[in-house]
Amino acid sequence: MRIAMVSEHASPLAALGEADAGGQNVHVAELALGLARLGHEVQVYTRRDDAALPERVAVAPGVCVVHVPVGPPRTVPKDDLLPHMDAFADWMAEDWQRTGDPDVVHAHFWMSGLAALRAGRARGVPVAQTFHALGSVKRRHQGQSDTSPPERLELERWIAREADAVIATCRDEVEELADMGVRTAHVHVVPCGVDTAHFSPSGPAWDHGLPRGRRARLLAVGRLVERKGFDLAVRALPDLPDAELVVVGGPPVERLDADPEARRLRALAEELGVGDRLLLTGQRPHEAMPAIYRSAAVVLAVPWYEPFGITPLEAAACGRPLVGSAVGGLLDSVEDGVSGRLVPPRDVEALASAVRGLLADPDGAARMGRRARARAVELFDWSVVAARTEGVLEMTAARRVPDQRRGAATGRGEPGPSWLHVHAAEVDGGMRSLLGQSDRIRSWGEQLATTLVDGGRLLAVGNGGSAAEAQHLTAELVGRCFTDRRPLSAIALCAETSSLTAILNDYGPDEVFARQVEAHGRPGDVLVLLSTSGTSSNVLHAAKRGSERGLRVWALTGPGPNPLTGLADESLVVEAPSTAAVQEVQLVAIHALCAALDDALTARGLMEAGPVCRQVS
Ligand code: UDP
Repeated sequence: MRIAMVSEHASPLAALGEADAGGQNVHVAELALGLARLGHEVQVYTRRDDAALPERVAVAPGVCVVHVPVGPPRTVPKDDLLPHMDAFADWMAEDWQRTGDPDVVHAHFWMSGLAALRAGRARGVPVAQTFHALGSVKRRHQGQSDTSPPERLELERWIAREADAVIATCRDEVEELADMGVRTAHVHVVPCGVDTAHFSPSGPAWDHGLPRGRRARLLAVGRLVERKGFDLAVRALPDLPDAELVVVGGPPVERLDADPEARRLRALAEELGVGDRLLLTGQRPHEAMPAIYRSAAVVLAVPWYEPFGITPLEAAACGRPLVGSAVGGLLDSVEDGVSGRLVPPRDVEALASAVRGLLADPDGAARMGRRARARAVELFDWSVVAARTEGVLEMTAARRVPDQRRGAATGRGEPGPSWLHVHAAEVDGGMRSLLGQSDRIRSWGEQLATTLVDGGRLLAVGNGGSAAEAQHLTAELVGRCFTDRRPLSAIALCAETSSLTAILNDYGPDEVFARQVEAHGRPGDVLVLLSTSGTSSNVLHAAKRGSERGLRVWALTGPGPNPLTGLADESLVVEAPSTAAVQEVQLVAIHALCAALDDALTARGLMEAGPVCRQVS
């Protein structure tokens, strides 16, 4: 794919160099590199904030940073960039016209979303949106000190609805979007990532800082802003007499004395009598961070709120136990009691007590650190996150922008076509893709005729709306679809409520279908997996288990290829851009499959009703 990323204020070059890098810079840089390693071509569009910057900078094979010349060529606070977004979009659209349209545009942060949608709609390029942070959350926590433009909340809601896909970085964000009134069918959760080769437990530990003595080092990392809650860590120090606190981040060390938050933290530490146990290092290069984490006994991440938070992942990858606040992305990235401890936000007592517990039990803390590392490698390594993002972007790229939605979009309230008009076009496209697969439907009907009459069984699986579709299919087979015929064995595993809850409790969500496949499936049986995204983890596990047990695995999904089509023996793929359209066309596919089955039974003279049906009729 050719992927255009938009990161209007956060250049990946900052993360790759030594400039003041925040989470978004690092995220965009690593994601671009990860996608390029998967064979994609990535152009990252960011605002030119220095006149000396060339228009294009190739940073790695397949990754190019494009500096968009809008606004003054110097650093401008991100909250002041809104007036430049239309010009940003128009420049980008012209660039695409010159150099070729990308297959998909992936926007980072809400203002980038405005530019991406305006350019994307002008050129017919589908848009995926990652917010990184939501204005509604910021407003709730920062109140009057929130400096975001007043239109932010309304525009974010518009972007979330208008984008072809939204990538949320944690489950908490999905709930926020739902609270904003956004239908979440097109929202996919893909977490932020970490480079687990760079951030690893092995390697030197940083030895600069306070005289080590016998003090245990607590480490907190991040921009020096109030909401990161560094003051809470300082307030916990009097209760932790054997510990020192190192805070890494903020302006370079030589400018720390002028930084208001640094001054506030130092004054607070003096007031509490712990000034000699606090060290502020200022900004350290990203390269130096692994050694810094390795020097810590415990890492603290105690923000008031946190859209995602990369530092907890970095700490985990370095095998360090973490005490974090139970907010936002930390709820996903830290498994309380396993890879670290979660405490209520802004609760100094709970923080001190959790840290005390870890310092008093070094073996337990080390065990947590090892589990944190294992989790980071399995769930959050950039290779995993890039592959999951790739899946969503591929699905988004497959979504042709309906003609009605083309043309410049500004988000400023122009009337658009009704939902029904857009939907009709989407269903139409999906039906056309299904018609192109009629041979496969016929072949499935013939295979089912043989398998089910010979005593084989069909197992069907799906989540949510797809669960209802799975039940629809099995009802048609055990009952009848068009005319009377023998009952055929078919079970919707998603309808087995007691088994589902039993397995969920004892074996976890990934096993809810897989274990039933193992219980009921016999070699040669057919396993039908329905998933619009083709990415649901429990369905993927069922596919793997089905293959291992010798079942024939068939997938019914939205746009492909996707992870599920990669695991299935055969797939029916509905090329439609919304979940609703995919599910509606899937129901047509189910009826078409029943018709093909009845045709095959008729051709073999097997359409007579079974004994029970005869008695009834
Ligand atoms: N970071 C860094 N040097 C510093 C402080 C922070 O390289 O002195 C990096 C840190 O390793 C992490 C990122 O900046 O990768 C901060 O990300 P996070 O999501 O925690 O915070 P954000 O700044 O996005 O709110």
